[in-house]
Amino acid sequence: MSLLNKLLEVVRSYYEQVKPIEDRFKRMSTFELLVGTIISQNTNWRNVERAMANLRDRGLLSPEGVLRANPRELEKALRVAGLYRVKAARIREIAERIVSSGLSLDDVLRLRWSEARAKLMELPAVGYKTADILLAFKAGAPVIPVDTHIARVSKRLGLVERGAGYEEVRAVLESAVPPNERNLFHLALIRFGREVCKAKNPSCDVCPLRDLCPSSTSKP
Ligand code: SF4
Repeated sequence: MSLLNKLLEVVRSYYEQVKPIEDRFKRMSTFELLVGTIISQNTNWRNVERAMANLRDRGLLSPEGVLRANPRELEKALRVAGLYRVKAARIREIAERIVSSGLSLDDVLRLRWSEARAKLMELPAVGYKTADILLAFKAGAPVIPVDTHIARVSKRLGLVERGAGYEEVRAVLESAVPPNERNLFHLALIRFGREVCKAKNPSCDVCPLRDLCPSSTSKP
């Protein structure tokens, strides 16, 4: 079995665990998911949930709500997720852009995939990953957003070169994952990266890929 197929087999075993996250993402409004993705940088999902609950309680989960609020209030709501000043400034900037241009995120998501992606990336602080998350979970696009965990695992496994960029990692993974599984695959590979192929001290001794992985520290 090829390494990519073995990875797919391993990652599939996490699908059930991450299914509730997929369901939650799909229930969120597009702006909420965008805000959640910004908050999730450099923190764990539990802190994201706390920050999102704070925003919800204060009516800060719409662009208009964000703009009506005192900027200190937004920062206070985000404090639990770390880097709260930067994240608050980004969310405010995005809200300003959406309101001032009359942009509807949902209308953008109805455009052709490549067009929608380019349009989303015109927003401040929205790069490939954030745009692809919105396209995957809110527009059903068959795309695998590549975050830091996914890039790390792919590189350690030698699926791509160490210096590979976002699009290269995405293309390699998408070549092996059926379109209807890509949302779950994205979430499940992140879980695998957080729990097993961790940034520091990966658990190669218990990793089901260790016999095939060129970076394994636990060779037989
Ligand atoms: S063997 Fe180690 S480095 Fe390779 S994928 Fe597994 S945890 Fe990561």
